[in-house]
Amino acid sequence: MIKSLGDFVIPAQAGIQLFKDALFPIHCADCGQEGEWWCQSCRQEPTNLAESACYRCGRSNLDGRVCFNCQKHGAIAGVMAFFNYKIPAVARLITDFKYHSVFEMSQLWQKIITEEIWRLDFLFTGPLTIMPVPLHPRRERERGFNQSLILAELIYSQLKNTGKECLLDSQNLCRTRFTAQQAKLDRRARQKNLRNAFCWNLDAVVPERILLVDDVITSGATARECARVLKQHGAKFVWVAALARG
Ligand SMILES: [Zn+2]
Ligand SMILES: [Zn+2]
Repeated sequence: MIKSLGDFVIPAQAGIQLFKDALFPIHCADCGQEGEWWCQSCRQEPTNLAESACYRCGRSNLDGRVCFNCQKHGAIAGVMAFFNYKIPAVARLITDFKYHSVFEMSQLWQKIITEEIWRLDFLFTGPLTIMPVPLHPRRERERGFNQSLILAELIYSQLKNTGKECLLDSQNLCRTRFTAQQAKLDRRARQKNLRNAFCWNLDAVVPERILLVDDVITSGATARECARVLKQHGAKFVWVAALARG
């Protein structure tokens, strides 16, 4: 029974959302079902998930650490990735996130990070500083945001919610050089393109244990160069978290 006029009024926010959903319905990137960017059953399909493995040689292991043979090729201790970037739906979702619907899609990643954050539990043998891979200020201005910072903030707040000892530092690792977009280059050119692209703010002390956050890790060249700079300035341990691994 309607008791007052108030019962007729849809709150303004909900009304706007309903209107938007009616005009621009979203669909699951996999099965096409309306209502979600990626429905729960599709994103839990085993083929969509990243295998836990050494990111460099692909040998599987329990926690994504870099295997003994690959350790001499860079400063990264290990990589935790949620999804397999080789699956077209995964690549499409991340491209949409980066170039079109960043704020709308943050809700999807927040949901995934909330469900999967336990996968980082084993890293908490001491405090961890969460750090996004920086974008060059010019590219950040063009795009309007740094997608890695958005992800780093989501990971940080979820870790805090579960009582973990962590900090967020998005200021002190900087991009000094405007580089060509990595996606357009081959493996060797990627590494060269990144030489001296990052620096550490010398007024700040480098944290000992760092979780570097990026959207995707493919060759690993960007994360490896960041890790090199961080370790050069005194970091002891750099692990990488990414939405997907190629
Ligand atoms: Zn689906
Ligand atoms: Zn390896």
